[in-house]
Amino acid sequence: MRALPAEFAAYSWAPSTRDLADRLGLDPGEIVRFDGNVPAWPLPSTRPGALAPALADVQNYPHGGYTELTVQVARYAGVEPENIVLGAGADDLILLSARTFAGPGDRVAIADDPTYPLFRIAANLAGAEIADDGPVVTFSCRPNNPTGALGDLPAARPLIVDEAYYEYAGETALGRIDEDIVVIRTFSKAFGLAGGRVGYALAAPETAAELNRRQSPAPISTLSAALASAALADPPDVSPQVEERERLARGLRALGLEPLPSRTNFLFVPAEGPEELGAALMRSGLVVRVFPDGIRASVRDAEDDDLLLEGIARALDRPAPVASAGGRSARRLRATAETRVRVRLALDGAGRVRVASGAGLYDHFLEQLAFHAGFDLVLEAAGDLETGEHHTAEDAALALGEALDHAVGDRRGIARFGDAVVPMDDALARAAVDLGGRAAHELRLEPDPGLAAHVLRSVAQAGRLGLHVEASGRDAHHVAEAAFKAVGRALRSASRVEGAGVPSTKGIL
Ligand code: PMP
Repeated sequence: MRALPAEFAAYSWAPSTRDLADRLGLDPGEIVRFDGNVPAWPLPSTRPGALAPALADVQNYPHGGYTELTVQVARYAGVEPENIVLGAGADDLILLSARTFAGPGDRVAIADDPTYPLFRIAANLAGAEIADDGPVVTFSCRPNNPTGALGDLPAARPLIVDEAYYEYAGETALGRIDEDIVVIRTFSKAFGLAGGRVGYALAAPETAAELNRRQSPAPISTLSAALASAALADPPDVSPQVEERERLARGLRALGLEPLPSRTNFLFVPAEGPEELGAALMRSGLVVRVFPDGIRASVRDAEDDDLLLEGIARALDRPAPVASAGGRSARRLRATAETRVRVRLALDGAGRVRVASGAGLYDHFLEQLAFHAGFDLVLEAAGDLETGEHHTAEDAALALGEALDHAVGDRRGIARFGDAVVPMDDALARAAVDLGGRAAHELRLEPDPGLAAHVLRSVAQAGRLGLHVEASGRDAHHVAEAAFKAVGRALRSASRVEGAGVPSTKGIL
């Protein structure tokens, strides 16, 4: 075995979500990772159906040329296919660049310190050592990880520019690839495909050809290529992430911290005692990356980022800058071959309700239910809508029911029963619920716009609740809307905390 340079330090991973959940006694869905710099959710294009053709052909190798994906990437980047080198994530292309430009005895320069550790690892694996004088190649991370800063483009050549966060920064060295520059990008960040491992390099045709000659024959799985293709058909808009980054930064400043200005989807927050802060957050299931002089936290979405702000406030013993959603909550992921649904539910909500599954009418009805129940509900799903709304609406309802069941926990102290009568123009709905832990449903919606009773039944089944609904009128939409509102009002009463004991003469629910 050839010895590695003495300075070599292998890449190190933070604990896995499963290990952490076991260690903390939490559901894996309750671990919130702020350490990966990836979005909170996959793109809507990431659906089981997008994989189906690749799955049906998975006994075959990919064609190493990835002709279709190469053309799509070239179109997205605004270059020609001859400029493209595909790889299993940016990491693969960093390793490829290092072994293409450097070898044993060479020196490799790295523009910033601290920066992404893989440059050092890749250079060492190629047998080179890290030094500023006389380098055969220089690596630069723009914008830089972990600071988030967009520095000047170094003058050194050849230059490998890691633009993993390009979409957030909007600045690129692509226009200068003819000056012995290689640009590396990824589908892991803005495209939300980190698990897929797809990246690409952009280089002058001769350089791209040399890189391709040294690349492994088929670095990307056909499944991952299919996901990348689907994502490129509708590239992401990162502006909500950028806005959320600034909101999170304001929240951190309200806590007396000074996050560094960032052009990425993460914030570096200088802090005293970062180890203790990271460990305190970890105990609440919030995982950040710890550095000697601060922590780095990914920007996720408002609900998750508020958990981080609350967690930091708790750890620093300062008042939280955001309203707490309270303890009676649940995070759930439900994935089948037809759909995937993520749901976050807080029973003592602050009026944040967002349901987006693509089954529009039932999204609207579930929003009504959650709003009138006084819950916070964020439910996002991607399903096989090409088969109709049935699977998606049903699985969204099942995921909501599961979250509700989890959030009421052992049901100690809750009112358990609730009922409501809600009119809507011509329609009148009556609902009664029993949060007693036994699934039962008696539902009459006349007329039903289609799946309304089915969706309510799914909530009842997965939520282990007794649910009676009688609703009638002339307009089916009104009937269903009144029914969902009535169920919401009934759930509001039934889930209310009014004592300490288990609401059953049996003493257990
Ligand atoms: N470059 C930088 C600067 C990164 O931060 C990361 C991931 N954290 C990567 C590359 C790795 O990207 P990929 O998932 O495409 O290998």
